[in-house]
Amino acid sequence: MQASVKKALPGVACLLLLAAALAFFSRPRVLSGDPTGAVPLSLPDDLGAWHGENVLFCVNDQCGRSFLEKDLRAGVPREKLAFETDFWLRRRFGLGENPEPRAKDGPVSADACPFCGSELSTISIAEQRILPKNTPIFRRRYSLPGHPEVTATVVFSGMDRESIHRPQACLVSQGNRLLHEYTRHASAGPGETVDVRVIEAARPTPDGSAGPPSFVYAYWLFNPERETDSHMVRFARMFFDNVFRSYRPRWGYASVSIPVDPRRPDEWKSELDSFLAVFRPLITRCRAEMDENRDRTVVVSDLSSDVNDYEGAGPTTSAPLGADAE
Ligand SMILES: [Zn+2]
Repeated sequence: MQASVKKALPGVACLLLLAAALAFFSRPRVLSGDPTGAVPLSLPDDLGAWHGENVLFCVNDQCGRSFLEKDLRAGVPREKLAFETDFWLRRRFGLGENPEPRAKDGPVSADACPFCGSELSTISIAEQRILPKNTPIFRRRYSLPGHPEVTATVVFSGMDRESIHRPQACLVSQGNRLLHEYTRHASAGPGETVDVRVIEAARPTPDGSAGPPSFVYAYWLFNPERETDSHMVRFARMFFDNVFRSYRPRWGYASVSIPVDPRRPDEWKSELDSFLAVFRPLITRCRAEMDENRDRTVVVSDLSSDVNDYEGAGPTTSAPLGADAE
């Protein structure tokens, strides 16, 4: 009898430890850092010499085109309308290479997709499907005459960390080929530098060949306390802050995408630097304002990802698209 009790002891001890650990980790926790609060950021119409426009996405997954809002408002005729088609959708849903829904009649407007008549949204279908609901997203396309257009996007995580995706995976799933990847110490204004992760990539070509880089994607990650261009550093930091400090601020993911003209393959470098010189201060200000709310807390008693609210009013946020996204 005694021998069998002795034999069972390690197992019982293990069970007790497990139960204690479960009780410890599922206890109500008070997290600081305002993870559900408003995001004090806006991407202005005029940023330095650049002028920003909104991008609108068709929500029909058989169409998936995106447009500049100003072109639609100006009623640019369909045959002259510049648009992009979401390659991610084609791969994900096995659409034909060139889906051509029947064009709608009547004037072009910003009320509906000029090609299929579906609703337009500031968030793409891919983002709606991938991102947790209530993910704040800020995006504008900035132009400056004589320069390539710059698309700036800032996405924020809340309690749910799935909001920030590794672009290396997303860009590839959109059919792009990643050619080079490295850290660049980008100049971001007088005396200021910021480390950004640069990915030189080629868009898919009809014959599948690898051409020269057709665009450059640069990003970095930040919370009120720090900036990094490494997802690993962010994960380590998040783990440490969450477990040992109960500090759970939003992380932001700022990215800049610039097309590369093969006749001027290095133009993007000065373009990136001059854009960051006006863009990065917006992020720096946002970090400082987020930090002012570091004492605002959220109490989590169940799974933390269930509390992914957004209490702000400003930006567009992802929301379930259709019933199947719930
Ligand atoms: Zn459409």
